Parts: sequence; C-alpha cells; structure tokens
Amino acid sequence: MHRFYENSDLAVFWDSSKCFHSRKCVTGSPLTFDFSRRPWIDLSRADNSEIWQTVKTCPSGALSVQYRHGIDVVMEEAANRSAAYDGEKQIGECEYSETPDGWVIYHTGVAPQYEGKGIARRLVYKVTEAAEKKGVPVDATCSYAKRVLEE
Ligand code: SF4
Repeated sequence: MHRFYENSDLAVFWDSSKCFHSRKCVTGSPLTFDFSRRPWIDLSRADNSEIWQTVKTCPSGALSVQYRHGIDVVMEEAANRSAAYDGEKQIGECEYSETPDGWVIYHTGVAPQYEGKGIARRLVYKVTEAAEKKGVPVDATCSYAKRVLEE
C-alpha cells in the first residue's frame, strides 16, 4: 500500500509493504505518526524539522520525505492522470489507462526545468494511492513509474 501526505512544505511517502512496525516514527513525532488514527500521518501537528528528522530514522525505508518546492500535485481522474502545477501552469503529469486488469501507468513526465525536485515520484504516488483506495490494481509500462512501484 502506497500513501502520500503533504503540508505546505513537505511531502511524506509511506510504503506499507516495507514497514516492520519498529515504531521509531511514533516515538520521534507522536503527534504526526499515530497508528490508531486515520489518516495515521498528519503533517500539521509538528514542525517540519521534527517531521523530517523523524522520517530519516525509519529503519526500513517505508517512510521517505522531500520538499514540495511550491509545486501542487493533484489527481485528475476524469483525465486519467495526476498533474503537477506551478501556480496555474501545468508542469508535469502521470497518465494511466484503465484496463480490465486495473490501471496501467504509461507515461510520467516533468518539464525539464523542474526535474530533480522529486515531482515525478509524487505524481506516481498520487495515481497509485488513488487506485489502491478504490481497490484497483495498478501496474506500469512507464519505466520510471515501474521503478517507483518496485523500489
Ligand atoms: S519507523 Fe518506519 S518501519 Fe518503523 S513503524 Fe514507522 S514507518 Fe514503520
């Protein structure tokens, strides 16, 4: 299960398949990470340095964190994609087709001047999370998305 959480500055990713419940996150920032709450991660409850440092203590790699760089990533299901925006300007997308076997991501792209900021990973997580919440299997022919799903 892939989940994706954001506040105005940070994006936090969680891959439940890697989590072995060491609870280091819960100890490091108990208001942010609480397995008894839904959603279990809330990035509004502690300052960014506490969140960042706590994520870095995750021993399994289930949690990861990066800056948002002021870029919004939204799901646009009617267009079969997630999209990234710098203000009004669209600067990236992750597109998928709906097949009888589930959603298949076939393209992920970010405008060249925005590369290196982790935006593509946020786009793939956005689609993956949306599919998983619907109970739809998700796969990829896009090599980048495939790598994210298998990392
Ligand atoms: S620190 Fe990482 S491995 Fe441990 S419970 Fe939290 S997410 Fe899971």
